[in-house]
Amino acid sequence: MTQEYDLDTLAIRAGIERSQFGEHSEALYLTSSFVFENAAQAARRFSGEEEGMVYARFSNPTVSAMQTRLAALEGGEACVATASGMAAILSTCMALLSAGDHVVVSQGVFGATQQLFGNILSRFGIVSSFVKATDLDAYRGAMGPKTKLVFIETPSNPLTEVVDIAAVAAIAHEAGALLAVDNCFCSPALQRPLDLGADLVIHSATKYLDGQGRVLGGAVVGRKALVEEVFKFIRTAGPSISPFNAWVILKGLETLKLRMTAQSASALALAAWLETQPGVARVYYPGLPSHPQHELAMRQQSAGGAIVSFEVQGGREAAWRLVDATRMISITANLGDTKTTITHPASTTHGRISPEARAAAGITDGLLRVAVGLESVADIQADLARGLV
Ligand SMILES: *Cc1c(COP(=O)(O)O)cnc(C)c1O
Repeated sequence: MTQEYDLDTLAIRAGIERSQFGEHSEALYLTSSFVFENAAQAARRFSGEEEGMVYARFSNPTVSAMQTRLAALEGGEACVATASGMAAILSTCMALLSAGDHVVVSQGVFGATQQLFGNILSRFGIVSSFVKATDLDAYRGAMGPKTKLVFIETPSNPLTEVVDIAAVAAIAHEAGALLAVDNCFCSPALQRPLDLGADLVIHSATKYLDGQGRVLGGAVVGRKALVEEVFKFIRTAGPSISPFNAWVILKGLETLKLRMTAQSASALALAAWLETQPGVARVYYPGLPSHPQHELAMRQQSAGGAIVSFEVQGGREAAWRLVDATRMISITANLGDTKTTITHPASTTHGRISPEARAAAGITDGLLRVAVGLESVADIQADLARGLV
């Protein structure tokens, strides 16, 4: 199906395999196991000699449909789904790395990702170096003979730094390493890292792929041989996705492009408005010409995305005042929802890191992050304006 249709069509129709009933909408197969015609077929299914469903830790038709659809949207040969975004990152590392291997990670990755590389994998002999996300020389300098993986997230959270995917892919490949890109913030609707040379795309499907804040999920997309390795780990270790969650995400993919396009357009309008506000010291949004990597962002993304961060004058007191003055926007750390959310990173998502490290990362006390949803821009703007002085 992949070569035949446009992406807009694949988002709606890729992965459909109707059952004997000919249902129109994708069926949800809530079953943990599958039956066989006879003992010989059971043996063939278990050995892999015959394709087919066995047990939901590693096979389920609803999960297969979600994987097929997401692979098509990312332009990848294969996809394997996981219980959460973190399960996708962990499974990738467990499948592709061994004790003694080295990983280069861009600074500003998701907090739990930072913890995983910095404090958990390190206990198993996998060493990580964190480099400034936008400094290509820092990546070059960090590569060594044991470097197996480069892991980046772009745009970064919350400062929306944009990493040059094609350039980092070239650096990784020259050193014989793979490049994995966490494509959570843009989704394939706005950015396709595999087209730019990445080897693997990783998703927290919890965010924009579901898009309505209902379920947890994750996925790894890429070449068949690489995804197969990740699948083998998941099959054995079990960080598998629930068929129900896969079904919700499968349906979420149908509206992904419409949502991302609309939410990005609203984010751009809000970012431009925030830049004109006297109480706002600085706005971080890749779609604005004032963004340091604006040109790069417009080259590798089809829009700026739905995350806008900004710094208010007056530090933490002013930031908290703005948060508390909102009446509609949800005060929560989540993002990727149709509902607009606001977060004060310094006291929440980045609250556990030292004030010095926070300052070095540019997460000031006046910084706020808004994940723009699908409400009217006028209402979102009015809600933010209440607390701006
Ligand atoms: C949320 C998030 C994750 C982790 O995903 P979960 O589904 O919460 O496990 C990873 N990366 C990014 C960029 C995220 O925003």
